[in-house]
Amino acid sequence: MSETTLASPHLLPESVREDFPILDQRVHDGRPLVFLDSAASSHRPRQVIDAIVQCYSHDYANVHRGIHTLSERATDAYELAREKVRGFLGAEHAEEVVFTGGTTAAINAVARAWGDANVGPDDEILLTPMEHHSNLVPWFQLAERTGASIKHIPLTEDGRLDLDRLDEVLTDRTKLCAFASVSNTLGTINPVKELTRRAHESGAVVLVDAAQSAPHMVTDVRQLGVDFLALSGHKMCGPSGVGVLYGRRELLAQTPPFMGGGSMINRVYLDRFTPADIPTRFEAGTPPIAGAIALGAAVDYLQSVGLDAIHRHEEALIDHAWERLQEVPGIRLLGPGPTQRAGLVSFVLERPHPHDIAQLLDFDGVAVRAGHHCTQPLHDLLGITASTRASFYLYNRPEEIDVLVESLKKIGDRFKPSGRKRRRKQ
Ligand code: PMP
Repeated sequence: MSETTLASPHLLPESVREDFPILDQRVHDGRPLVFLDSAASSHRPRQVIDAIVQCYSHDYANVHRGIHTLSERATDAYELAREKVRGFLGAEHAEEVVFTGGTTAAINAVARAWGDANVGPDDEILLTPMEHHSNLVPWFQLAERTGASIKHIPLTEDGRLDLDRLDEVLTDRTKLCAFASVSNTLGTINPVKELTRRAHESGAVVLVDAAQSAPHMVTDVRQLGVDFLALSGHKMCGPSGVGVLYGRRELLAQTPPFMGGGSMINRVYLDRFTPADIPTRFEAGTPPIAGAIALGAAVDYLQSVGLDAIHRHEEALIDHAWERLQEVPGIRLLGPGPTQRAGLVSFVLERPHPHDIAQLLDFDGVAVRAGHHCTQPLHDLLGITASTRASFYLYNRPEEIDVLVESLKKIGDRFKPSGRKRRRKQ
């Protein structure tokens, strides 16, 4: 890799690294921590941690209820966070932004609320084999409740959606097409805009699981044309326990609430209720107040760094990783080449098992993910039960990938098949 290509990956982490105090530590006999597991959950900068401290130290009370100073402050901060997320997503209206517990909660909300009201036994739900279980199981459950059937867009050999075969599965019975913008296992960046356009031409509603793209590249829901989009705060420098469901206003307004309780009502009588307007209709009970406020701070942070800069940095990191990982004997890299993937890479070695690889890497200070990454059907398709995944974010340095590669080479060496013993002629 030439110096000019490496110049950009060097710059970003050096300018943000000190914002992430957790990264500055040593593990296992003083090895510097090399954190390559941000696709599971990222770290958060001081600015976000400070926002949480500020909220709980000065401005916290329940929102939308109390007529007192702290409640007004907390409500203003909570609604300001909604406005920040609206801007982050390029949405037109703040009421299109629903705070949820995360991506899983957002997808389940659509399956329950929109799905139960709109999907019937003759309908088809179109998914992809690379989905996270969060974007499979809620639809299986919806299919069980309604009698709808499940279909999948086929994959190409190298782990992309095979849009040449889309017509085989996208029909006028397709009610919903739900897919990830970036695969959390293959790293594939899916063509959201094109797939959305084609699904809409067939009359289907589109839900995008943006858990792995929203933290890393610009999201513009209007430009993409999607109907629903889900994301998690904890993967994008925000806190855990908060996420977002974006829903197009007309669609949300026609959707009944599914979770009942406080806040989501307009009026309750002894035997019935009328629902509140959107988005409150979908935010039953006390919402993740500090979480949403801190997510707003995360959005500020990501925008101050620049989503384009983050994406470019990760492109350079994945180029570097792709090239260097080839040096590991017997490695099988899953998914398409670096030009069509985001900043994560899953792989298998002939041996040992991914769990052992992750543990041995940990001894060298390297944190990665091992297992099926909640994509069991995809692993079945790939003919493996598990893989190891390294994932990158704005704070990762190219040198950290070098540490990963050197450690993998050592592991490969240690578990090298010893070669068949020669039979002695007798
Ligand atoms: N979808 C994708 C693509 C993911 O990577 C994840 C998290 N691994 C989820 C959904 C679920 O997100 P959460 O656990 O935050 O709800």
